[in-house]
Amino acid sequence: MDYFKKFLLSVFLISSLAHASIEQAPPSFNVVGKRAIWTDFTHAKYELSFDIKTRKAKSVAIIELNIFEKGYPIFDVVGTPTKVLVNGVSYSQQEIETPGKESKVRIIDHEFKAGRYKIQIESEVSNGVKFDASSVSAGFFMKDMRDREFLEMYIPSNYEYDQYKMEVSVRVTGSKKSHRLFTNGFLVEKSKNYFKYTYPDYFTSTSLYFHLAPEKKFKVLESVYETRLANGKDFPVTIYSRTKRLNRRIIKVVRKVLIELERDYGPWPHPHLIFYGDGKWKGGMEYAGAATAGWFAIGHELQHGYFARAVMPANGNAGWIDEAVASWRDFTVLHKIFPFRKDEINYTSMNLGNQSVFNRKTDHRSYVSGRSFMFYIDSLLKKVPGKSLKKFLKIYFENRKYTTIQSEDFRLDLEKYYGRSLKNLFDQYIYGRDIKNNSKLDGIHEKPFHEPLSHEVLQELI
Ligand SMILES: [Zn+2]
Repeated sequence: MDYFKKFLLSVFLISSLAHASIEQAPPSFNVVGKRAIWTDFTHAKYELSFDIKTRKAKSVAIIELNIFEKGYPIFDVVGTPTKVLVNGVSYSQQEIETPGKESKVRIIDHEFKAGRYKIQIESEVSNGVKFDASSVSAGFFMKDMRDREFLEMYIPSNYEYDQYKMEVSVRVTGSKKSHRLFTNGFLVEKSKNYFKYTYPDYFTSTSLYFHLAPEKKFKVLESVYETRLANGKDFPVTIYSRTKRLNRRIIKVVRKVLIELERDYGPWPHPHLIFYGDGKWKGGMEYAGAATAGWFAIGHELQHGYFARAVMPANGNAGWIDEAVASWRDFTVLHKIFPFRKDEINYTSMNLGNQSVFNRKTDHRSYVSGRSFMFYIDSLLKKVPGKSLKKFLKIYFENRKYTTIQSEDFRLDLEKYYGRSLKNLFDQYIYGRDIKNNSKLDGIHEKPFHEPLSHEVLQELI
């Protein structure tokens, strides 16, 4: 490590202890004779423009980042960039595969040395946008069950380990109709068909909620959630859907769930809640202080406001934790009769959290199997007077909120609380130690809560 790299790393560690980043990145790797290196985004400014006449959506991303070793910097966006500038100089970029073909990313096709850079990436936003003759709708909806469907599906971003400050401005041109932007940020500026927002600095590539629509497309119900906690805070809640009736039904459930969650885990960790309800949709998806969901997934997605989008997975291998915890909660709240034993794990061995470090998606078995694992953990903890999984989660949440975590962080926190090693248990049931072929299923097929978002479903949601 050269002096400059050491210096940068120490400045970085001092300045952002709360926000883990490059130390949770996958390792650098060689591809087509080049050293692909991970970077630390510190700030990203996205300028988005939607032009009704040409039916084109464009993104200009200006990203400030640190590089800690010599190499070809990695970033990602699904749509091919039309222009990449580094400190004002134009470079080409290349789409590459990660070493085990787990995913695809892009590298800037030039070797840079350690240092701080400003990168400008111009690209077309082709996913999640729908034009008609007089207006546009755009929804940056995400999925964690499939690869490459976080923010990079729409605009340039990084792997989940990276937390960075975002700023988004949006301009709709060529339309007389007013548009509305539903987003989980702080409003800076607004005029007809122009919006500018900044976002909390704990955000990662799975945090941003972005839904632009013609003003009259949705019915909106604005209210304030009044906390029952002495250390809590009231916060604004925006519910929207196609009908006022659905909004009224949703707000009742949302309030009930928020009371439960605040009681169990402490104050709601985001400055607001934005909720897009869709009566027909069976699944849902969570964001930082925002969610979309069908009727039955409201509680599940709101609990993710704590576990998934306040304590955040640093990679695909940590994704199982939040689904296991949310499914455990769903079952405890919704079902009085349990079709399984709560004091034993209903599978022999599984690999939910020990796949490739380049994997970004959550294992789809994290719901049913992960839930069984959590019920078992709860039964273990309850053997110790005064302890339980819920009590542990409250402490874990308080200690880890606004940070990105890996599976081992969860295990170590749990062990500290329990007072005994859980290594064997994790090795067998979470890291798949007893499976000969790690990629094999353990005979259980699960239907994920966050069902894959097909192109048609996405188009309908927008
Ligand atoms: Zn979930």
